[in-house]
Amino acid sequence: MAPFEQTRRSFLHTGMAAAASMLLPAGLSRAWALEIGDSVLTSVSDGNLVLPLSFSYPDAPQDELIALLEKNGLPTDSLVPDCNVPILKTPDRLIMFDVGSGHNFMPSAGKLLDNMAEAGFDPADVTDVVFTHGHPDHLWGLLDDFDEIVFPNASFHLGRAEWDFWSDPATVDAMPEERKTFAVGAQNRLAVLEDMINLFEPGAEVLPGVEAVDTSGHTPGHMSFMLHGGSEPVLVAGDAITHFAVSFAHPSWPSGSDQDAEKGVQTRLKLLDRLAADKAALSAYHLPKPGEGRVERDGTAYRFVAST
Ligand SMILES: [Zn+2]
Repeated sequence: MAPFEQTRRSFLHTGMAAAASMLLPAGLSRAWALEIGDSVLTSVSDGNLVLPLSFSYPDAPQDELIALLEKNGLPTDSLVPDCNVPILKTPDRLIMFDVGSGHNFMPSAGKLLDNMAEAGFDPADVTDVVFTHGHPDHLWGLLDDFDEIVFPNASFHLGRAEWDFWSDPATVDAMPEERKTFAVGAQNRLAVLEDMINLFEPGAEVLPGVEAVDTSGHTPGHMSFMLHGGSEPVLVAGDAITHFAVSFAHPSWPSGSDQDAEKGVQTRLKLLDRLAADKAALSAYHLPKPGEGRVERDGTAYRFVAST
């Protein structure tokens, strides 16, 4: 069976769709949505990235990598991952997990605000932004072209280790040349949040029903979030799992986008094992739009079963 199995076996059966559509803006009534207790999780696209293959998996066996990409009908010179921003609507909050790239990272990304408008979400209604980590495609959308915060009424939440890493002036010098802009861009944005950020530790209940899960490796303080309150937990994974074919079929291949590749592998293996065992739902930032599905075992590895 192909590692990526598109399926209509959606979580959104008819009854759930009706319940979900009552809680969502009109534009989202037909979009993917997952009911979690009295809350609804969906996602809005920020566009996609374009990454050279050499950046993404430089240390994987290249012939096997290319064969896997070809088998999945993907280009073999670059990766073009989607960017999906999860949004959780609870009875009294509108919570975003990350804020997209903004206009200064890549021309193919930074579409979040247009797509939010189309889906009926007003940035002014966002009560909370919970960050998974400080990379450009997750953080740089915080500010508009006038350096004003795009979500004027939101509270902001970030793992303490992630804050400490990107806020450290030494981080700019320590980053390889091609990623120095990551550190400069993160510092500029975090400086704006300095007096209002809520820093938290792994295991914390960041917001009611939102549990921080340590998934460091991609970055030193990367966090995922387990959402409780439904019949089963749902994991907002951020970039702990990034590629719908590679991350599942070969979770042990080191990823060039993980700052600590070895730790990234350990984190990924642990998460996949837990998600497959629990049959939990998964929302991951770079899986194919809308980024949600489930994890199944596939021999000694795994496969992603999309929920679209
Ligand atoms: Zn990312």
